[in-house]
Amino acid sequence: MTRPINITIFNEFIHEKSNPVVTDIYPEGIHTTLADGLAKNLGKNAKITTATLDQPSHGLTPETLGQTDVLLWWAHLAHDQVDDQMVNHVHQRILAGMGLLVLHSAHASKIFQKLMGTNCMLKYREAAEVERLWIVNPTHPIVKNIDTDCIQLPQTEMYGEFFDIPKPDDLILISSFEGGEVFRSGCTFQRGHGKIFYLRPGHETYPIYHHPQIQTLIANAVQWLAPDPATPTYHPHARHTPGSVPAE
Ligand code: ZN
Repeated sequence: MTRPINITIFNEFIHEKSNPVVTDIYPEGIHTTLADGLAKNLGKNAKITTATLDQPSHGLTPETLGQTDVLLWWAHLAHDQVDDQMVNHVHQRILAGMGLLVLHSAHASKIFQKLMGTNCMLKYREAAEVERLWIVNPTHPIVKNIDTDCIQLPQTEMYGEFFDIPKPDDLILISSFEGGEVFRSGCTFQRGHGKIFYLRPGHETYPIYHHPQIQTLIANAVQWLAPDPATPTYHPHARHTPGSVPAE
């Protein structure tokens, strides 16, 4: 993309205002740390907007969504409070080509469940365990410039299989945890014209979005998710008029 990527970061922004541990790690909110990481990695190639649940239209006005190339979604406590009409609008934008980066506990968001058609549930344990994020698809653009076989995070929440998602188009990362569990932590999907990436790391009580390699992963993912200008424009339910097929 020759112009900057229009990125919108949605964060429900509740933990940061109610849990002092989270406030210490993300004083300006998870969305601000994500925005800072993207600005550092993408520079002038990113135009970043943030949106939170308590804003009118959750900060996702038709104007904002209409201009968004890639939407990031972080949420945990208040999936039910996201307006169903808003979910439908986001869904239509993805089918028309907008990219979606689903982060950590957003596996249970309405939009991810709607896109996947499954419950998207998993096993979890909060025990500050070491996580190793193994790169299992080293030529994929999402892991470019990650100069290691695995990213090690010293303290994380465990997510374990079975993760109730459809078979991903591509599996990029598999996590292993101290307790022995494994998890499909980086999965790509396509729905309509839109690309989707699920990325597991990001539990709110650990400084995971400050980690340089996680910031690189997220910046790579945003670039991969951005619609390709060469992709044909999406025309829902277009009438095909006689004579529109080229003659032989
Ligand atoms: Zn969590």
